Amino acid sequence: MFCSNCGKEIPDEAVICVHCGAMTDASPAVNAQPAVSRKTGNGFAIAGFVLSLVGIFSGTYTYGIFAILGLVFSIIGLVKSKTCGSGKGFAIAGISISAASIFITVLVIILAVGLSLTLPILGSGSGY
Ligand SMILES: [Zn+2]
Repeated sequence: MFCSNCGKEIPDEAVICVHCGAMTDASPAVNAQPAVSRKTGNGFAIAGFVLSLVGIFSGTYTYGIFAILGLVFSIIGLVKSKTCGSGKGFAIAGISISAASIFITVLVIILAVGLSLTLPILGSGSGY
């Protein structure tokens, strides 16, 4: 790169210009700025993560509604994490948790429907 003060060529990793001693673009003071702008929270990723947790704990009582919401929010969060640079971990965790939750819910519903179809006497007599 080139020094912003004197314009001479300097190594890319140089913090201070070897020709004039001015601070370069690689200096921590300048690099701190994009890190601050990156700190815009990824609300969708966190919301998706929380919803997926609610979904897996509320289980089949909510018919996987929270898990589906969690999956949708997590996917939006994952897309947003590529642009705002944060929340990727939350988004991936949310997607995997809600996907597992949906899988379990669907499995339970299939089992429940299957049981009630194959064992109508037990299904009506179990007190549900
Ligand atoms: Zn210079």
